[in-house]
Amino acid sequence: MADRDGFIWMDGKLVPWREATTHVLTHSLHYGVSVFEGVRAYNTDRGTAIFRLKEHTDRLFTSAHIYMMKMPYDKETINEAQKEVVRANKLESCYLRPIAFYGSEKMGISTRGATVHVAIAAWPWGAYLGAEGLEKGIRVKTSSFARHHVNVTMARAKVASTYANSILANLEATQDGYDEALLLDTEGFVAEGAGENLFIVKNGVIYEPEIASALTGITRDTVHTLARDLGYEVKTRRMTRDDIYIADEAFFTGTAAEVTPVRELDNRAIGEGTRGPITAAIQARFFDLVNGRLPEHDAWLHYV
Ligand code: PMP
Repeated sequence: MADRDGFIWMDGKLVPWREATTHVLTHSLHYGVSVFEGVRAYNTDRGTAIFRLKEHTDRLFTSAHIYMMKMPYDKETINEAQKEVVRANKLESCYLRPIAFYGSEKMGISTRGATVHVAIAAWPWGAYLGAEGLEKGIRVKTSSFARHHVNVTMARAKVASTYANSILANLEATQDGYDEALLLDTEGFVAEGAGENLFIVKNGVIYEPEIASALTGITRDTVHTLARDLGYEVKTRRMTRDDIYIADEAFFTGTAAEVTPVRELDNRAIGEGTRGPITAAIQARFFDLVNGRLPEHDAWLHYV
């Protein structure tokens, strides 16, 4: 990732990609408090547009607020910087990664005296769980690692330290030959994927698990609207792993994962074991939306 041409926005200006570096004694590298976003831009007929830029930036600032990290820039600057990065790298469609982290002024748990830095990178990134996964669905395994208890890490924050838990779960699942992990909460109820929210379909109704210990995904919120557009209501309920075993359909959502069908959980086929019809309809509408083909939702597209 580090050795390529292009530009990264760092602390207020564009710097050559290879020079966007930080010291090994960077506080956030040692203690895991950096807040970040994953954002996508798509190539629409009206040019490249960043999807739900405002909501992603709002969540970045929310994450910083939870960790009492003082952002050195306002939201408008961060939004403009993201557009600038897409333009400077001449990207038609891409993934963007804004990140705020503590610098190398000090060591020790206290963040007092550590400077907050902000960087924004962007690069082309295809289907996160594979192009075949988007079409045929993926195989998921329930993790032996529980999602953080709500009083251990703060689920509303997209903070690096949360992802140590995601990485444990993903390692376990992928080393056993599955595509992704599903995490349960500390009481055993379904929380989310390692980097995705989950939906299931049962008897024509779309359900999602309570998101107490899960990230409040922006794609998840988008799916609520798309489901309504298609005449479905999304119901929220506590969900067990066997609710998924006996679901008709299941799918993951996320900025990276987009809308990815889940065809199997713990070696049990979900429904027909393929992408289900309601999942297919939501997925098709999602790609219409992000690619600028739904004028009624154009306000979510921020043209660069
Ligand atoms: N949960 C986790 C743990 C994630 O990392 C992500 C990806 N950001 C999501 C859910 C989905 O969130 P979003 O749709 O906002 O990308």
